[in-house]
Amino acid sequence: MSFSNQQSTYEPLTESTATSLATKLGLFEQGAVLRSKEIGDGNLNLVFHIVDDKTNISIIIKQALPYAKVVGESWPLTLKRATIESNALLTYYNLVPDLVPKVFYTDEVLAITVMEDLSHLEISRSGLIKGQNYPLLSEHIGRYLAHTLFYTSDFALNPQEKKKLAHRFSNPELCKITEDLVFTDPFFDIDTNNFESELQADVEKLWNDSKLKLEVAKLKQKFLTQGDALLHGDLHTGSIFASDQETKVIDPEFAFYGPFGFDIGQFLANLVLNALSRETDKQEPLFTHIDKTWAVFVDTFSHLWEKDNVEAYAKIDGYLDSLLKQILEDTIGFAGCEIIRRTIGLAHVADLDQIEDYNAKILSKQQALQLGKELILSRSTISSPTEIRNYFQTSY
Ligand code: ADP
Ligand code: MG
Ligand code: MG
Ligand code: MG
Repeated sequence: MSFSNQQSTYEPLTESTATSLATKLGLFEQGAVLRSKEIGDGNLNLVFHIVDDKTNISIIIKQALPYAKVVGESWPLTLKRATIESNALLTYYNLVPDLVPKVFYTDEVLAITVMEDLSHLEISRSGLIKGQNYPLLSEHIGRYLAHTLFYTSDFALNPQEKKKLAHRFSNPELCKITEDLVFTDPFFDIDTNNFESELQADVEKLWNDSKLKLEVAKLKQKFLTQGDALLHGDLHTGSIFASDQETKVIDPEFAFYGPFGFDIGQFLANLVLNALSRETDKQEPLFTHIDKTWAVFVDTFSHLWEKDNVEAYAKIDGYLDSLLKQILEDTIGFAGCEIIRRTIGLAHVADLDQIEDYNAKILSKQQALQLGKELILSRSTISSPTEIRNYFQTSY
């Protein structure tokens, strides 16, 4: 990677200027004829796929836009998130090189990350919706979570180093999006919420449930204040490329120092949301992924704890167990918040929205709201994510 050759002013790339940039960076053979296409599907960033058909060499250029397009309007959003994303990918590449794309180049002014093209894989949300099960997904994500969380925490870094790293990942504007969209807006009558009129009664019940809101407030406070480790911050199944052999985590522009359980909870919630969109007899692979993600996370995290823990109290009996218990409780709570906000908040998931039969869709969304609520309220008594499947069988 190089930081040289930086441009002095920001401008959004076009398919043509993206090609010129790729040529200028020397990522292709001299005189190569390049094909360029903008393939982004988000509201915040441009993504250019650039290919040399002769050599089959290809790259991705992701560029942040200075605003977010949301419900027809746009609001300004810092370009610094591109640098955060590049730095997070580089940090994670050092820890789990097989599970993130390689970064070739970063430019802070242009707000771009040039990276490995992963087009041979599929975004796991799309594949799961089509009925793919990605047998290695949970093993890979469990390992990703254990390594990225452990090695960026005070258990692996000395506290000075860790605070310096945390400072580089200060990300207030993107955190604010999560604070509002995940932890606040869905639980109040706010006009960015978005749900079918058939859900009005269920949603009003949530808004009036002060017991539930107290628990969400506690989870939000954790998210606001508890800087355990460098989080991805947006680890849903749309941020994960997969095949039957490979898994790659992309899109860490929300990265910041936050609570251990947040990434785990978001990932589990998105598995739950996919399970809710499936016929009962097709749900088992998702339940297996939920169990296995947690099991692999615990095994790997415990192994790293034994091997590389620098904390003086590391060997004190019961410390690891009590930490894992707390992480589980938070994970389940964060998962509950994510399930609810993806059902009635501003940003939905295709898993539920694409359910063809309208009544089945409404029923699945009602189940999602009920399940999200139960997870938040019961999170301290759930002894393993395996229990999530019980809520599918008994709640409705
Ligand atoms: P956003 O932050 O706007 O959601 P993402 O990083 O998720 O941007 O990328 C948006 C889309 O661009 C992805 O869903 C995927 O289709 C494509 N994309 C992103 N990164 C890559 C990559 N490294 N290789 C291939 N396609 C990619
Ligand atoms: Mg996207
Ligand atoms: Mg994305
Ligand atoms: Mg993103």
